[in-house]
Amino acid sequence: MAAPLQLSVLGGGQLGRMLGLAAIPLGVSCRFLDPSPTAGAAVAGPLVVGSLDDRDALAEVARGSDAVTYEWEGVPAASGEFLIGLGHRVDPGVRSLATSQDRADEKELFESLGIATAPWRRVDSRTDLDAAVAELGFPAILKTRRGGYDGKGQMRIATSSDLDPAWAALGDASLVCEGVVSFRRELSVLAVRGRDGATAVWPLVENTHHDGILHVSLAPAPGLTDALQHDAETLAGAVLDALEHVGVICIELFDTDHGLVANEFAPRVHNSGHWTIEGADTSQFENHVRAVLGLPLGSTAARGHSAMVNAIGSLPDRAAVLACPSAHFHDYDKPPRAGRKVGHVTVTANTPDERDARLAVLQRAVAT
Ligand code: AMP
Repeated sequence: MAAPLQLSVLGGGQLGRMLGLAAIPLGVSCRFLDPSPTAGAAVAGPLVVGSLDDRDALAEVARGSDAVTYEWEGVPAASGEFLIGLGHRVDPGVRSLATSQDRADEKELFESLGIATAPWRRVDSRTDLDAAVAELGFPAILKTRRGGYDGKGQMRIATSSDLDPAWAALGDASLVCEGVVSFRRELSVLAVRGRDGATAVWPLVENTHHDGILHVSLAPAPGLTDALQHDAETLAGAVLDALEHVGVICIELFDTDHGLVANEFAPRVHNSGHWTIEGADTSQFENHVRAVLGLPLGSTAARGHSAMVNAIGSLPDRAAVLACPSAHFHDYDKPPRAGRKVGHVTVTANTPDERDARLAVLQRAVAT
């Protein structure tokens, strides 16, 4: 029998839950820290209830563990530093965590690596905003540097009459103003780096959003060429190495006429990688667990063609979903609430056409 390993996870939402479920067959026990006593990850391991900056709770969840990781990039960097000070390994490291929390730092990292981003300016005053749109032109997007997610913390500025409302809504935070990128589609690249620096990259994913929230992911992205995959792998490898990142990363990309443009990254497993549970040789969750514990990485090759559909607000009827060919139902055990991710469904197929047909069957089933 292999010696059991203990992994501590900061955050206990659905990402923690899926990490914990992937860890079980590897002989890895997860322990979670979450402020909610009903956190969904509790089915996959013991839960310490406490805030993610509570030092007693942090020390308790990490006690005796072989590695500490997190499932939410909002974990305070100071909590990571605190655990490192106690002698724990925290992966992905504090640099990955802190950089991902600040859009300006993220863009500077991309630029330092020669990775294209939207044109952007820092905005810390109304004068900065006027100067930014004078240089970038209309339309532009004003975003908070910190704390934005799922399209929150940002305002589109189409004309000069949008400047006052945008400033009134966001002006009390540090901001960035971005030029609007003209893209064909949104993609994401999921990649993983081990403790030994080995990396593996899943096939690019095409994502569509509704109201700023991920709705459908197709993987591999339709029409994916070797050249596009190569560009994504080069870009992801550069980011992983620069951050000395250990674990999974997701980089959100725009596919443009001039190549890939990086928008932002998440230093963790990501919603656009959920298809990997059934659709890849090794899921993002399993490879994250392997990476942070210093175990060899598994193959990231796709098994055929997958589509992942998020359940937002409430779950579709389980029996209706399961009646669809090759549909895999994931219930996060979260109370329904508007705009909340409460589950997802993945369909898998041998060809892109079969995947699209199965996705259509699923979408008809969940619409009725
Ligand atoms: P974000 O919070 O940065 O992921 O932005 C949410 C969504 O807004 C993205 O998924 C895009 O659809 C859109 N978006 C954000 N920034 C830009 C940009 N600079 N140009 C065009 N669309 C953008």
